[in-house]
Amino acid sequence: MRKGDFSFEFFPPKTDEGMQKLRATKAQLEQLKPRFFSVTYGAGGSTRDRTLDTVLEIQKDGFEAAPHLSCIGSTRANLLETLQLYKANGIRHTVALRGDLPSGLVDFGELRYASELVEFIRKETGDWFHIEVACYPEMHPQARSPQDDLNAFKRKVDAGASGAITQYFYNADAYFRFVDEVCGAGISIPIVPGIMPIATFTQLARFSEMCGAEIPRWMRLKLASYGDDRASIRSFGLDVVTDMCDRLLEQGAPGLHFYTLNAAGLTTTLWQRLGL
Ligand code: FAD
Repeated sequence: MRKGDFSFEFFPPKTDEGMQKLRATKAQLEQLKPRFFSVTYGAGGSTRDRTLDTVLEIQKDGFEAAPHLSCIGSTRANLLETLQLYKANGIRHTVALRGDLPSGLVDFGELRYASELVEFIRKETGDWFHIEVACYPEMHPQARSPQDDLNAFKRKVDAGASGAITQYFYNADAYFRFVDEVCGAGISIPIVPGIMPIATFTQLARFSEMCGAEIPRWMRLKLASYGDDRASIRSFGLDVVTDMCDRLLEQGAPGLHFYTLNAAGLTTTLWQRLGL
């Protein structure tokens, strides 16, 4: 069995039906015994209660759960209140992000970047939290240059981040090159690749465009050629993503973080194929 830091990400469901589905997914994925589950957090605290409820359900089953926390659209007072809520519930692990403003909103809030949030968390809560941050092997879409983005990542580490999870990618070389550059910059925290299983094409292409994750041309052409044939998309996606994860783990990635999109099927198959 391969060793490493394996984790699963959920988003907090909006409806009772979504919550039922997530409970079933959680029950399946718990059997794989990941190191932790993480739960996303909406801009301006829009999902705060649902994020916390989901985390508490996971904790109740005896698993470690890390709520995300994003600072965009929030005040220091709101963020502190949320941190205190996390602390009061015995939560010791968080993923600190800037977040993205939903279209139409213009209030950035009091903290501009995730590095300021990490600094704020450390100032207010000392060493209580294990803090993960995001990083971007293919560069964050708003960064001026890869070097600027690396500098921004270093600021988060200098502010006290304990570990990092990458944006998803389908090109292992981008990850290895990024890790080399990060080491060159004197950063030594673990950088766990974020893995997005492939369930659909149109939606994935749209989302990848927005978040700056490249779907290589050969993959795009193949995926597009399957049209509405979801079984072929999933089967091709599983082959490609398994091969990439195999290579990542063989060549030293410290673990994998799966963006499950609240579904267990593809993540479980990947897990089995990888012999985790
Ligand atoms: P930052 O690190 O602040 O970087 C944002 C941009 O600003 C980058 O382009 C960076 O290069 C630039 N920058 C940073 N500091 C400076 C500076 N001092 N001067 C100039 N430029 C600077 N979003 C959510 O809303 N909720 C979630 O739960 C969530 N979970 C995520 C989990 C993971 C693992 C990942 C990879 C992303 C997640 N996101 C989430 C998305 C994330 O919020 C977006 O990618 C967002 O656009 C950037 O967030 P960040 O924390 O990386 O920001």
